[in-house]
Amino acid sequence: MNTRTQEVMHEFYHGLLINDGRRFRNWGSSRSTQPAVYVEPVSYADVQAVVRDTGQFPTPVRPVGSMLSVTETILNDGGTLLCTRKLDAIIGLETDEQGRQLVRVQAGCRLKKLNLWLQQQGWEIPFQAEIGEATVGSVAVGDTKESSLDGPGYFSSHVTAVLYIDENGSLRILSDRQDGDAFYEFKCSFGLSGIVVECVIEVRRASLCRANVTLQAFDSPQALTDGVLKLREECDALLAVVVLHQLACFAEQRYRADAGNVTPGSSQPACEQYRIAKRLAIQHGFDGGSLPQPQGIVFSRHDFVNEYWRPAETEHRLDFQYYEHDIGMLEQVIAESYRFTKAFEQKTGFTPTGWATYFVHRPERKLKPYGIYSGGAGISCSFDPIYCNPNEPLWQQFAREYNRLAIDTLGGNPSPIQTQWLQPGDVRIPRKLARSRFTTPYYQQFLV
Ligand SMILES: Cc1cc2nc3c(=O)[nH]c(=O)nc-3n(C[C@H](O)[C@H](O)[C@H](O)COP(=O)(O)OP(=O)(O)OC[C@H]3O[C@@H](n4cnc5c(N)ncnc54)[C@H](O)[C@@H]3O)c2cc1C
Repeated sequence: MNTRTQEVMHEFYHGLLINDGRRFRNWGSSRSTQPAVYVEPVSYADVQAVVRDTGQFPTPVRPVGSMLSVTETILNDGGTLLCTRKLDAIIGLETDEQGRQLVRVQAGCRLKKLNLWLQQQGWEIPFQAEIGEATVGSVAVGDTKESSLDGPGYFSSHVTAVLYIDENGSLRILSDRQDGDAFYEFKCSFGLSGIVVECVIEVRRASLCRANVTLQAFDSPQALTDGVLKLREECDALLAVVVLHQLACFAEQRYRADAGNVTPGSSQPACEQYRIAKRLAIQHGFDGGSLPQPQGIVFSRHDFVNEYWRPAETEHRLDFQYYEHDIGMLEQVIAESYRFTKAFEQKTGFTPTGWATYFVHRPERKLKPYGIYSGGAGISCSFDPIYCNPNEPLWQQFAREYNRLAIDTLGGNPSPIQTQWLQPGDVRIPRKLARSRFTTPYYQQFLV
């Protein structure tokens, strides 16, 4: 597509349209919304028609992908919920003038589908988080975290161009080469600046990962912090799940292995056993049960991008909070969080099932001007409480109260799509990024 703006002459909408007042729920059934209209466009022209027709498609228009998000980000009562699931084509590989290898993909494509396709071609995106259902459009303009090998650890850093529908219904393109600041700001916009319909993402030759998995116990919060930092220093990327009230740490130490796109036979079936056990633990919100601790397994990380079934409300299922801290804060974060957790346990008997700990490399400020990872070059860590039932009142109380410690006292940055029960001021989104056609009351409260 060479033109920077493409107008479409017809205004007819062809995709699925539901306006019978039904409710739509997120993955964990902890949030639901009753839009006036729910649409699944089948073309970019459909998205344009929806945005332009304020009569048939009431304001605000909120784009969603797989509706996995745990927060109120998907809420749009009385508005138009636009789901991108049918815009999920992988258009193909291409090379740009700078010689970068890229993949062009539609916004509704799920990360698992993209990973499988790239695996077949011998390419990969460095961001290979466990979550396979998240859609490209959501993670191109939203917050993500992953302990990546040789990569920053958040998806949008790999996006080099976006095609989106603006508030007038025009198709627009922004890219790092031509638009600089405007492009980097758009990637911090959570769909408030426009609806992403297509992304261009930088890829690299597929590589293998070697991992050692251990479960270790410590005798103090300080020893736990030292242990986590040592585990991280020993490897190329660390994913840790800390059982804080027991001062234990489940650690997956990742090391670069050679080039390749399939798990070698020498590491099977150990890899598959570990993958299935870890996937189940994540699906069930780490509700107990032991995990294998394989040593020296070599695998393609494509295979570890998982698909999670949509759980029934009676099933244990993952719920979590997200906070970004600078790595220099980890000691204080663990010490204060331990104190808080033990006091809460004494008061109520409740503890989270685990704390996910990711390490992400922040870029220079220009490349990530707002929100998480915008602190300038450095290393961030997250320390995120996890539970196995989003609707458990004590978990909700824990998370609400912990927000004040993590955000106010420890200075953590929360995310409007990954941190629940936020208050105005907890997240600050520049007003200039938000168009009224796309701004729901949930996002309105964070505009500054
Ligand atoms: C079981 C499970 C595991 C998870 N694991 C991880 C993990 O390892 N790492 C991680 O980072 N996250 C993880 N998450 C969180 C998840 O990746 C994010 O919430 C992600 O945004 C979900 O993608 P989605 O397509 O479901 O987005 P949705 O929930 O459908 O949408 C979220 C928001 O994205 C924006 N949006 C969606 N589509 C578009 C578009 N086309 N254009 C513009 N804006 C858009 C809107 O603001 C929307 O409200 C996990 C969640 C679950 C439930």
